[in-house]
Parts: sequence; C-alpha cells; structure tokens
Amino acid sequence: MRKTRITGAFAGVAIAAIALTGCNSGSPTSPGASAGGDDASDAALWEVASDVSLEGSPTFDAIQSRDQVIVGVKEDQPGLGFLDATTNERTGFDVDIARWIAASLGYDEDKIEFKAIASANREQAIVNGDVDYYVGTYSITDSRKQQIDFAGPYFITGQGLLVAADSDIASEDDLNENTRVCSATGSTPIQNIKENYPEVPTEEFDLYSACVDALINGTVDAVTTDQAILIGYAAQYPDEIKVVGEPFSEEKYGIGLRKGDDAFRAHINELLTDGGDVWQGIFDKNLGQSGITVEQPAVDAY
Ligand code: GLU
Repeated sequence: MRKTRITGAFAGVAIAAIALTGCNSGSPTSPGASAGGDDASDAALWEVASDVSLEGSPTFDAIQSRDQVIVGVKEDQPGLGFLDATTNERTGFDVDIARWIAASLGYDEDKIEFKAIASANREQAIVNGDVDYYVGTYSITDSRKQQIDFAGPYFITGQGLLVAADSDIASEDDLNENTRVCSATGSTPIQNIKENYPEVPTEEFDLYSACVDALINGTVDAVTTDQAILIGYAAQYPDEIKVVGEPFSEEKYGIGLRKGDDAFRAHINELLTDGGDVWQGIFDKNLGQSGITVEQPAVDAY
C-alpha cells in the first residue's frame, strides 16, 4: 500500500497538460480520438474499445444483451460524483472512472445510464442487478464483501471533519456530547462515530449534501465523511465551512460488483493496473486543483 497524504488546502495549481499515447483497449488515446467523456479534454484520456469479449461474465452478458451499461454513482459530491442540474452534465473523478470502465467494455457515453444511489442502498442495488457496477466513494469493507465484490482499490482517502468557518472544533478529539455530528446513513464514517465516539450525538441523512445544508444552517456542528468528499464541499462554500484535522481512518475506494463475477472483476482490476496514465489523467482533471495529493493504489486482486 502506498502512502496517502491529503491536505485541506486549496492549492489552486493549474491542471498539468496531459500528453498520452497508445491505442490498446482501455489504454490512453491520441488527442482528438473518440472518447467516453463529454468535453474536449476527455478526448485525450481513453478510447472506446471495440470487439470486446469477456468469457464467463454474467454482468458483461447482461450489458451486451441490453446494449447499455448501467452504472451506480453519487451526484451530490463535487469533484467526485456530481450532476449539474442546470447543464445536466455529470462530472467528477468517480464518474470518469465509471466512463473509463464503460469505454473498456466498448460502451461510449451515449450508452451509459447513470443511476444515483445513496450510501445505504448500494449493496442492495448491486445484489438486485439494478446496476452493472457502482463507482461512488465506496469503501471496501469485509462486511460489504459478504454481499458484493469489489474491484480496486482505485483511490485512498480517510475520514475527516467539516465544520463552520468560525468553529472551535479542530479535530476529532474535540467531539463530545455537545457536538452534533452529521453523516450519511449506511456509511463507514457514521459507523465509526457510533462505535468509537458513542457520547457524540449524531444526525443522519441519505445524502452528505443534506448534512452540509444542516451545517450551514447551524443545526449540526460538524459533518463527517471522507476528506476527499468534504474538500469538495468546502471549495463550494469557502467563506462558510472548512475541513479540519487529519484523516482518522483509511478508506479504500472500490468498484462495487455483483458477487462471484470473477471475469468482470479481473477485467476492471487489469484496466486499473495497466492504466496508470489514464488514472493520472482522470485524477488531474477532476482533483488536480483540490489540494488532494494521492497516488494510485495497487490493486488488491483477491
Ligand atoms: N467511503 C465511505 C463509505 O463507503 C463514506 C462515503 C460514502 O458514504 O459514500 O461508506
């Protein structure tokens, strides 16, 4: 496992120019080639594979027979998984990882249906076959692995705290019976607070954006979830809220998959392992200006 370092600072550096070459399935493409994204910068990141075959994958068989990929995502997490209600454009690191996977299977943007699924409903959506795969700040955990499989990890972050700009809370050590903490139902951070900070009153919503509204309205004192998520909200409301402290857990993001589809999992793991340049391009495009510093983690091909 490589070391992850995340800071709350908004670095404001320019996105590095990306020059990628290559033409294999799921590999970097020449600038100007057809790609899965929806603006010019995506054109350099990946190409849509053709004549893909994936022996023994029920998920891929289902995708082929409906001629469409159904991907579970978040849509209220800026920088990671976000839907702009005005332009209808989906952006974010996770969304681009999802597009890249679809492209590696031979499916371009117009053949992807995105479904927003909240943290608490992910395992069930995957088990039910409502989505072919899920990419949305989804931590790999042993208890989730009892119901589903994960490809990856493809990103590592850790639990953090978001507080009002004038708050005295500086880290998790300042949480107590007087600090109301908000997080999403069914998430690892709310579980961590309940188990390890039992005196701290909690508030739960389906979506982290509802917690952020509660923080800005003053009905809670902190929002807790992965720092990578919190940094995106802090950048939206820099005068009102801030990320404090250091990450106090390790969250390894995986791609949620139906249990037992080993061929599908191996395909995605191989894509991640061989596609370091694409991963870096997706990171730079979506999180390069966020102040987050993270290297691509090694895949855990269990
Ligand atoms: N990564 C954590 C989890 O999977 C928190 C973020 C989320 O709820 O998506 O529970």
